[in-house]
Amino acid sequence: MHYIVITGGVISGLGKGTITSGLSYLLKNSGFNVTNIKIDPYLNYDAGTMNPYQHGEVFVLDDGGEVDLDLGNYERFLDTSLTSNNNITTGKIYKEVIEKERRGDYLGSTVQIIPHITNEIKNRIMKAAKGYDIALIEVGGTVGDIESMPFLEALRQMKSERNDEIIFGHVTLIPESGNEQKTKPTQHSVKELRAIGIQPDLLFCRSEHPLNNESRKKISLFTDVRESGIISAYNVENVYSVPDLMEKQHILDRIKELYGMEDHRFNYTLENFVKNIKNPRETVSVGVIGKYIDMHDAYISHKEAFSHVTGNTGIAVNIKWIDSDNLIKTAEDLNGLDGILIPGGFGYRGVEGKIIAAKYARDNNIPYLGICLGFQVSIIEISRNLLGLKKANSTEFDPETEYPVIDILPEQKNIKDLGGTMRLGSKKVLIHDNTIAKSLYQKNIIYERHRHRFEVNPEYIKSLENSGIIFSGTDEEKIRMEIMELKNRDNYIATQYHAEFKSRPLNPSKVHLYFIKKSLEYKKANGGKIYERNIE
Ligand code: GLN
Repeated sequence: MHYIVITGGVISGLGKGTITSGLSYLLKNSGFNVTNIKIDPYLNYDAGTMNPYQHGEVFVLDDGGEVDLDLGNYERFLDTSLTSNNNITTGKIYKEVIEKERRGDYLGSTVQIIPHITNEIKNRIMKAAKGYDIALIEVGGTVGDIESMPFLEALRQMKSERNDEIIFGHVTLIPESGNEQKTKPTQHSVKELRAIGIQPDLLFCRSEHPLNNESRKKISLFTDVRESGIISAYNVENVYSVPDLMEKQHILDRIKELYGMEDHRFNYTLENFVKNIKNPRETVSVGVIGKYIDMHDAYISHKEAFSHVTGNTGIAVNIKWIDSDNLIKTAEDLNGLDGILIPGGFGYRGVEGKIIAAKYARDNNIPYLGICLGFQVSIIEISRNLLGLKKANSTEFDPETEYPVIDILPEQKNIKDLGGTMRLGSKKVLIHDNTIAKSLYQKNIIYERHRHRFEVNPEYIKSLENSGIIFSGTDEEKIRMEIMELKNRDNYIATQYHAEFKSRPLNPSKVHLYFIKKSLEYKKANGGKIYERNIE
């Protein structure tokens, strides 16, 4: 068993997740059985209750785990499905230790950070790593944070207990002043790491331009990291270039040397994919209508799903982030789009703007993709405008609405806690014949990831169908609506599930792929045409 621990220094947001994922990709494609563990030192039990505006998207796993968005990056690079055990938080560790204490498991001893918390951390790491050749462990936050201390202490202990099995990699920043690369922050950050007893074996230096030889030598001298272990992780336009960038600096050779491993042959599968991303043959402009639009990470899995489409088709997606609240005042932001995506979301703010966008897409024949809340918004919009139920709404936004076309799931009615209580994770979806959905998935049963409390109210299904909606995907009992299309439209599709969570570089989400192809068709047929919104 081998572990590679990745820590970060100097500042947050250096792209540790991308480096960890890129390294996982290299190792996996060298024949190792690889897994990833993310340590989040916050006290939240999981990411489920966290605001996407602060932390970015809440990613959902097959097992229903609501986790940090880095798990999404790992899954995409490793092309695998992870579990909730792959995300360790301070909240999970303390909850477990306190529960054990209450049960009397510690037999009267004083329960302390060392050894009780650190032992719990080590146990969780080893449990998640079991059965793999290599586990990459990314420690969230920045070295020196109080929150991450128990985790780094546990990892330090692991190193002294199983020396040959553990490598430490540290991600740091090399600021540039004019032409000069500044190594001092890196020196200090490594010093901080060494003060807690950890000597890095690898350094990933984040900088605008490639690290020059002089800086590399200097860093090596001050940090005791061999030059061959210093990787220049300079800025590149897309994350899928990162594995190649690291491999060109022979990182695998250095890792094998550190581990005393035999040679493995590396197989690069992303060559054409990256070529398409770098030199796309076409571009479409797609509007993403949301309320967290300043925080693009809140919709990272959609962004990634689009880059998967680009990598496979050569159609680049120029995303226009549109604030749904603005649409209430003017629909100007919707001009010139080749497609409209309404992603998931919670709470009433922004919903009326999304309803306007959905109507605009339907009125003007603009390709439309609705996901989760975007699916529910379509139902509300069509109920109001085609069924004439003027005040139709979801009971999430108006509990007293006369026409509750979207209503709380029956199993959700008596739940009080907000964390981890939605309809979560992988669920079976039945695809009906002779539909767009069937032509995309080419099978009648698929499994997709969910995260919702509300759904189409079964009482309205018949009238919605009469208004021209085709429910092309449902649950097995055909009570829960999962996919909708429109009669007479081949460029409008919405799903209650989150198709973006299972999109992979070499296997893009089917609905995202379809939506972008339709957007290109639309652009070719109508390019540049500007519509006036019907104002009622
Ligand atoms: N707020 C809606 C619900 O709970 C949609 C959730 C989502 O978009 N993830 O059903």
